[in-house]
Amino acid sequence: MRTVRTAVRVTGVVQGVGFRPFVYSLATGLGLTGLVGNDTDGVFAEVEGPRAAVEEFLHRIERDAPPLARIEKVTIWAMNPARSEQFFVIVASESSGPRRTLVSADTATCADCLRELEDPADRRHNYPFINCTNCGPRFTIVRDVPYDRPLTTMAPFAMCDRCAAEYHDPADRRFHAQPVCCSACGPRLTLDGSGKDPIEAAAALLRNGKILAIKGLGGYHLAADAAAGLAVTELRSRKHREDKPFAVMAAGLAAARELAEIDDAAAALLTSPARPIVLLPRHQGAAVAQATAPGNRQLGIMLPYTPLHHLLLAATTHPIVLTSGNVSDEPIVYRDDEAKERLGSIAGAFLTHDRAIHVRTDDSVARTFRGRPVLLRRSRGYVPEPLTVTAGFPRPVLACGAELKNTFCLAQGRHAFVSHHVGDLENAETLRSFTEGIAHFRRLFDIEPRVIAHDLHPEYLSTKYALDLADADPRLDLRGVQHHHAHIASCLADNGQSGPVIGVAFDGTGYGPDGTIWGGEFLVADLAGYERGGHLAPVPMPGGAAAIRQPWRMAAAYLGDTAETVARRHPDQWAAVTAMAAKGVNSPLTSSAGRLFDAAAALLGVRDAINYEGQAAVELEQLADPAELEAYPAGLDDGQGPFQAHGADLLHALLEDRTSGVPAPLIAARFHHGVAALIEAGCLRLRESHGLGTVALSGGVFQNLLLLTATVTRLEARGFRVLLHSRVPCNDGGISLGQAVVAASRS
Ligand code: ZN
Ligand code: ZN
Ligand code: FE
Repeated sequence: MRTVRTAVRVTGVVQGVGFRPFVYSLATGLGLTGLVGNDTDGVFAEVEGPRAAVEEFLHRIERDAPPLARIEKVTIWAMNPARSEQFFVIVASESSGPRRTLVSADTATCADCLRELEDPADRRHNYPFINCTNCGPRFTIVRDVPYDRPLTTMAPFAMCDRCAAEYHDPADRRFHAQPVCCSACGPRLTLDGSGKDPIEAAAALLRNGKILAIKGLGGYHLAADAAAGLAVTELRSRKHREDKPFAVMAAGLAAARELAEIDDAAAALLTSPARPIVLLPRHQGAAVAQATAPGNRQLGIMLPYTPLHHLLLAATTHPIVLTSGNVSDEPIVYRDDEAKERLGSIAGAFLTHDRAIHVRTDDSVARTFRGRPVLLRRSRGYVPEPLTVTAGFPRPVLACGAELKNTFCLAQGRHAFVSHHVGDLENAETLRSFTEGIAHFRRLFDIEPRVIAHDLHPEYLSTKYALDLADADPRLDLRGVQHHHAHIASCLADNGQSGPVIGVAFDGTGYGPDGTIWGGEFLVADLAGYERGGHLAPVPMPGGAAAIRQPWRMAAAYLGDTAETVARRHPDQWAAVTAMAAKGVNSPLTSSAGRLFDAAAALLGVRDAINYEGQAAVELEQLADPAELEAYPAGLDDGQGPFQAHGADLLHALLEDRTSGVPAPLIAARFHHGVAALIEAGCLRLRESHGLGTVALSGGVFQNLLLLTATVTRLEARGFRVLLHSRVPCNDGGISLGQAVVAASRS
């Protein structure tokens, strides 16, 4: 039989996922000799043996790859047989040369590890840091590539003999699992002020209504018993978080089903290796305190994703609130020293450990829409896996994102690396996270950006950062990308499309090139450019940013003194605010859909002032009767140029219903359906003028499930093909991807 030798190169997410052991057992099983190793490009191997066996090897390397591997490409070439080898070996990693390897995301504890965790006979029984090649920390502990223990935050822990034996045994599930450890050699869990079993002691504290700080995978969480009203209320007040919903962790699917309705798609998302927080329709009477998600029909639930969580939830026996460890809008705390400093006054005790977190990474937030997963915050569990963009990036791009819910994106070749959730770029701490994050991604993926994309808003810190970069290095090309164009381009990239489409971008705020604030936009767009096809008729925002915090000002702006009941609630300021709006003093014009929802919420008496972004619209949605399908009418004008859609028509109809005593849930529903009908009318207009049959929906307003459902239903009934977000958020967390693809198509 003829002996052949073939070199193989595999790129993609192939490090830290058990690829070398997989190749080793595959090759030895087939009686092949040769070698396998990691380098900065991914995995390389050489296999030698009978032709049929080598071919079988090449077939199975793709078909049977480990569960966490994401193979991008397998390249092979023939070599001369060596004939002198006796074994197949794993060779040391090489770290020189350009880096093109991919780092995998943090992954929930696998079924094998879970079995060992619960097995009293196993040497890792109840060990809170159990992991293997198929699960455990990755992105959050990686300091540099190649992915090897010395370059992770596991470096200080020297493996004991038994762990080392597993690590070096090609037949073992922990063969070359970089974070492998056990209670003899690995990180230790501690609960301050307690000599007892930290898990049992922590569970007892939670049961007694105490608030705990718990060090997780990507940062510290604050925890309280989800059913304990006083504890959850206390947590809100100490955290200075008034109404924004808290997420809950339940021990497993069965426990989660007691709290919310979970269909197959939602169950798959909840139990996926990424383990996001999933927004679910909450059962009436679910055993969670009212303060967990006040006035919300939905509940954000996640399942345990680290062994520590599994042990803790087994000990508490019921669900706990698990919210990011921070005060108000600061980024999640991830260092031990800052945890004591910042969370000391919130938490009664710290359940912590000595494995450092290298990159702060918040929990991801997702939901399903028509059986498909939809990410609302793409972070822990997903990042840093790249999104593949078919058109590619001819030159490396850094896209700096927007201001709120910031992410950045580094892109090269066909890969777009959208960052973890950085947060609202409004303070020094978040800005530091942003700049350090960019430096880290550049190093990890060896990307030297030549093109810098940014929002057009001159005051965004992300814009200023982009301009500073270009100032410092004149060879960099700057590309300003209009906010809503970026939203639509992001939706196109999310769907692997390039347009042209009708893009409906409805959000709160985005800088318009005409000096007004945009946010209710109908664009005709492709990746390279856009034309403003229509928009909500602009109204003044009396007091500028104050109008965002106080929705009642938008009712004043839209309807003036007609909004009598709102006027009566604000007797001191009403005259001044309506005058400000009428005269256009400190009242920038906006076509924002978010502000239209604000006005409706104020007119219905739902909310006059907000304490988190989008709150008025969220509460208006919660109020709406899902069975009501009637829609308020709204007109489009027939002028030249972009059409204007008259959102005010909806508000007049709302007010009329209100005056004649129609119940608020019906009114709220009719308003939502009115907005959907207005979108439908706008799209029909643009289909007529531009002959386009595809609509892309983007912008944070489409997080509103009622509006989204109504809009998609109407558009599909009219024969439109509708593109929605799935892999990146429709909110500003998706902006960086949009900026990157726009910049690439213009470079
Ligand atoms: Zn495992
Ligand atoms: Zn050990
Ligand atoms: Fe936006």
